[in-house]
Amino acid sequence: MRSFVQTADAVAATAKKTEKSRLIVELFRSLPVPDAALAARFLSAQAFPRHDERTLGVGGAQLTRLIAELAGKSGENLWSDYRKHGDLGDMAEELLRESRKQGDLPLNEVARLFADLAAARAQVQKSERLVRAFARASAGDIKYIVKLITGDLRIGAKESLVEEAIAATYERPLAEVRRANMLTGDIGEVLTLAAENKLASAAVRLFHPLGFMLAAPVDTADELFDAALKEAETPALLVEEKYDGIRAQVHKSRDGKVKVFSRTLDEVVEFPELDQPLAALPGELILDGEILAWRGARPLPFTELQKRLGRKRVDMWMQHDLPVKFVAFDLLFQDGALLLDEPLTQRKIRLDKIFVGAADALRTTIPTECRSAQEVAQAFRKSLAAGHEGIVAKVAGSPYAPGRRGGFWFKLKEPFATLDVVITAVEYGHGRRHKVLSDYTFAVRNGDNLLNIGKAYSGLTDAEILEYTEYFLQHTIEDQGYRRIVEPNIVLEVAFNNIQKSSRHESGYALRFPRIVRLRADKPVSEIDTIATVAILFARQTQ
Ligand code: AMP
Repeated sequence: MRSFVQTADAVAATAKKTEKSRLIVELFRSLPVPDAALAARFLSAQAFPRHDERTLGVGGAQLTRLIAELAGKSGENLWSDYRKHGDLGDMAEELLRESRKQGDLPLNEVARLFADLAAARAQVQKSERLVRAFARASAGDIKYIVKLITGDLRIGAKESLVEEAIAATYERPLAEVRRANMLTGDIGEVLTLAAENKLASAAVRLFHPLGFMLAAPVDTADELFDAALKEAETPALLVEEKYDGIRAQVHKSRDGKVKVFSRTLDEVVEFPELDQPLAALPGELILDGEILAWRGARPLPFTELQKRLGRKRVDMWMQHDLPVKFVAFDLLFQDGALLLDEPLTQRKIRLDKIFVGAADALRTTIPTECRSAQEVAQAFRKSLAAGHEGIVAKVAGSPYAPGRRGGFWFKLKEPFATLDVVITAVEYGHGRRHKVLSDYTFAVRNGDNLLNIGKAYSGLTDAEILEYTEYFLQHTIEDQGYRRIVEPNIVLEVAFNNIQKSSRHESGYALRFPRIVRLRADKPVSEIDTIATVAILFARQTQ
């Protein structure tokens, strides 16, 4: 680990991308290929290959306890040490720097440690494995092991930078490296293939999820059409209803095995009733689409589908009461052929053929072809009128670009209602924001009382957050350490995706994906929105 730790520290210390890349290239060149492959994976903040579904199952509290024991601070409250860094790995290094100068854990032992942690069921076993590994590790080793366990290195190196470094180290075209990474889902394997000059042999593998293509948000039909014009020679757009369910990538083998992956590339197991209809589709397939709760002729809002998420065993009642459908909108792979570079229109033709005669639980989107901003606006209004949250417009001749946002797909959504709320409590943030009060709990009004309804993390500028941190420190009613109850003076306008019933907040509701639109210095607390307004918005949305 020693050279990995040195490199990672040096990468963190420079803001220049070219310098970061040069440091990583130097590391790759200095290591034998199997070690360089592990370094590539770890620099991408992955304990396992991306396609691998194992998880470590080690929590922050458990790590904190182990670090405290190692540092001889067992039982002490490390909250202030943590707050100094906002990162458990950095905290570990600081606490252990003096006592752990020696030690150097080989990279392959760190990989073995992760495999053991994933395999161990009981927390005591996991702790034992960590203690044994830490005994032979330096403070720097422990720092990065902890960071890998918590999932973020915070050295300003993304997987894309590691791809660039692999291309530079072995003098291969970056596009080939990226393609191999997308297909294999294993940056370590990509490094090995690049070193052996075998990138071309990377192939798509059924049941290893590919990255999802993403849509860029736009605010108006005009903006949407202009953005599409920039990318496409012929301004034809396939406009589809924007469904409000969960994105799903379906893999199906010739012999009828089916797996469904979510946008986070995890397996989706909550909808077993889709397996059989999907298994009956012809040939080998990778499909992209959306799973939706459905009643009669219409899809239901996400809040309904959500009732089925997280349930591993679905009882018959649930299946009956909340039936779901899979709506396919793209085809990435068919009978051994990768179709990403075929134009969308061609992929759609294939897709429609596959779905002829498919079960009732399966369908495809029916796009409207639009050739002007007016046509897009019309399709948008039609989609809203049919009860959808908006449209997704796709350039007709475009390839499928996994993991990329923007360029060929655009989403236009109904502008949601906003609420004027007041901040009632604040918390220190995480990562870059660990020294400022950046997480705001906010409330609506019920007569003279305030009822919390949500918590927002983003929307203000760094300067504003800093200014309000000062303010809140001076207007604290109760200091709870990581959290402060503050005087309810600061009014915000917040936007959100929808409202849910929830016992998390005293209002009985929670806003989904709340974000701060602006500060409303012009509005007194007595005029913020009320719980009655929330109830009306909630009712409207479930109608
Ligand atoms: P958002 O979640 O608001 O960022 O919007 C992007 C998501 O919309 C995608 O990830 C899909 O899950 C979903 N979506 C709904 N309908 C479609 C569609 N027709 N084409 C592509 N994505 C869609």
